Amino acid sequence: MIPTLDDLGDVAGKRVLVRTDFNVPMDDGVITDDFRIRAALPTIQWLTSRGATVITASHLGRPKGRPDARYSMDPVRARLAELAPGVELLENLRFDPGEEGNDPAFAASLIDGIDAYVDDAFGACHRAHASIVGPPRVLPSAMGLLLQKEVEVLLGLREHPKRPFVAVLGGSKISDKLGVVESLLNVVDALVIGGAMCFTFLAAQGKPIGASLWEPDQVDTCARLLATSAARGKPIHLPEDIVGLDAGGNFATYGTRLPDGAKGFDIGPGSAAAFSDIVMDARTVFWNGPMGMFEDDRFAAGTRTVAQAMADTKAFTVVGGGDSAAALAQFRLDDEIDHVSTGGGASLELLELGDLPGLAALRGAPNA
Ligand code: ADP
Ligand code: MG
Repeated sequence: MIPTLDDLGDVAGKRVLVRTDFNVPMDDGVITDDFRIRAALPTIQWLTSRGATVITASHLGRPKGRPDARYSMDPVRARLAELAPGVELLENLRFDPGEEGNDPAFAASLIDGIDAYVDDAFGACHRAHASIVGPPRVLPSAMGLLLQKEVEVLLGLREHPKRPFVAVLGGSKISDKLGVVESLLNVVDALVIGGAMCFTFLAAQGKPIGASLWEPDQVDTCARLLATSAARGKPIHLPEDIVGLDAGGNFATYGTRLPDGAKGFDIGPGSAAAFSDIVMDARTVFWNGPMGMFEDDRFAAGTRTVAQAMADTKAFTVVGGGDSAAALAQFRLDDEIDHVSTGGGASLELLELGDLPGLAALRGAPNA
């Protein structure tokens, strides 16, 4: 059993460490989307309204185990103070190499003077880091409300989805995500691939991809996935057209063969229409990863079209991933989605494996 907040017993007067995921998108020290901070508020309020003192802790970016002013928690702390006055926030956990190294001494320092631990950092639960797996070894622990909802929705998708169940994948963290595609084929009826991820697949089909982002050492994996998909009758839908910049830096539209030096930055209008038809006809859709470099207006159309289909479809819709959620917010479509997950990698891994290191740790807590 994974303990929930009720399993903590009376929290009045207790000091509770809440592992949050405040890994917010930032631009020059300014938070561009505070979704992840707002998402932690229900758990924080649950605890403070029952008399607990809440100390939050999170990572931000990839500071490589030492203090780095670019990844200071100060902007997050300022926003948190507006949304939840009196709640503490520790400095970036990844300023200490013990966080990612899962060092017991670092975990011990985090829980010094702490009475109970709550994990509400779904976006970090797929990592066996000190702040995720350390505290539940010794402290009464629980999943926060956000984590609880994530687990319910994503395990629900895995265990009893309405079919057809389609996964739409994109974004730029290609090698991170390719690992899960194979087992996703066990769970879904079809895959739709856009974003930078599509180019390694197109390359595996022997198509020239110009100077687009791709992972040469993943071509074999993609070829194998295409073969598996064909053998099992579970289609992998790839773009039929691409937009981007030609070698001279001019906006250009292509089919699926890109000339030398051309860079693909979005799926084309034909692909966007085809992908949105697939989303409209599905009964369950899981989407992770933008269809293009949507931060640039010239390359936002593919992501916008698919996002609109996600909003319009009658299917049960789940979106995972920081940038995917930011895209939805930018298009003001986030309210039209059934569940916007705060975790990209974590949501994929939970769909794939049905468990995460952080959940296993909570199951082993003394109060579980
Ligand atoms: P998420 O955070 O939703 O899991 P990722 O972090 O994997 O998604 O990827 C998001 C990033 O992918 C965005 O910043 C977007 O600009 C980038 N991206 C999408 N398509 C392309 C592309 N064709 N070329 C380069 N970058 C891309
Ligand atoms: Mg991202």
